[in-house]
Amino acid sequence: MSAGENWSPRSQAARALGWIDQRTGAVTPSIQPSSTFLRDSDNQFRSGYSYARDNNPTYDQAEALLCELEGGAAAMLFASGMAAAGAVFLNLRPGDHVLAPRVMYWGLRKWLMEFATPWGLQVDLVEMGDLAAIAAAVRPGQTRLIWLETPANPLWGISDIAAIAKLAHAAGALVAVDSTVATPVLCQPLNLGADIVMHSATKYLNGHSDMVAGALITARKDDFWQGLADIRHDGGAILGAFEAWLLLRGMRTLYPRVEVACRNALAVAQHFEGHGEVAQVLYPGLPSAPDHALAARQMRGGFGGMLSLRLKGGERHAVAAAAKVKLWSRATSLGGVESLIEHRASIEGPGTPVPADLLRLSCGIEAAEDLISDLETALRSA
Ligand code: PLP
Repeated sequence: MSAGENWSPRSQAARALGWIDQRTGAVTPSIQPSSTFLRDSDNQFRSGYSYARDNNPTYDQAEALLCELEGGAAAMLFASGMAAAGAVFLNLRPGDHVLAPRVMYWGLRKWLMEFATPWGLQVDLVEMGDLAAIAAAVRPGQTRLIWLETPANPLWGISDIAAIAKLAHAAGALVAVDSTVATPVLCQPLNLGADIVMHSATKYLNGHSDMVAGALITARKDDFWQGLADIRHDGGAILGAFEAWLLLRGMRTLYPRVEVACRNALAVAQHFEGHGEVAQVLYPGLPSAPDHALAARQMRGGFGGMLSLRLKGGERHAVAAAAKVKLWSRATSLGGVESLIEHRASIEGPGTPVPADLLRLSCGIEAAEDLISDLETALRSA
């Protein structure tokens, strides 16, 4: 193996750190499916590998690349984004207090309310765009973690990572950021003071909607990191070797995919802002967005491939329009090369903070003009 030490992150990603298999000279990373590894004759494991829960050589390159892209000290792959996020909360103790966003990936909010709360965590949901509200909700000495998601599903509000990290650290709390939507291409939360970055690697990192994975990248390899490693090892929520390999392959095209998705999202947002059928476009890249200045400061190179449209015709028009698209796929998830559209309130169910008139759009890498004309036709004919 040899790594390119002075390469830019874009080159590191494209070349998967430039590791070359020393035995074969293979340029493309290889996959190691073995679940178990030989002991040395003196009973040691000098190879560093013993058993593939969670000690798999196929993880190494993907985890090293994630560390490089996020500027972290260590990275860990998980079986899903939920398994990665869950490990962070399970690494706390019953009785600990955590803050999480009122508007966030709904699956994690549901898990926090229906599993983590009965398990013993005290969870307060707050507006993560409101520093005064966060400061008021923090309990010094008892709040152990502030969980952020920025941009946050599916209203795409932005949280000020640096300011929240300062506030959290003063109170003795850690900050973890779900950076799935921003990706390391657009934002590096650890460089802004966060302690942990989480990704649903199912999304942009893999980028092809053909596997499910999660990742944590930490600023330090400390006791908290060891706790996460123990949860992964002992709980067994590990990624398969093939999925780890697919993830590494996907990350090699992360930069160009994210750049095209950002351009497409901006083009769609600009086209539909002020449109006769559209009440509001939610996209932090629009200068009219309330969080635009913060997003411009905290993100670089774009504002992400995700946006939402609120329709003047309400829920019925939103559901009907989603049924009429041809190029967009009517499906959940995000971050793939194909564009997806979803009536979000339907999937989140009762109690969701998501307006019923909202369509969530994940822009892929198709031609922007095709995406726009397909949406125009769907809105008109619905
Ligand atoms: N975080 C965000 C922002 C997501 O969109 C998702 C999935 O949709 C998750 C976390 C959960 O990830 P996974 O589906 O890989 O478990």
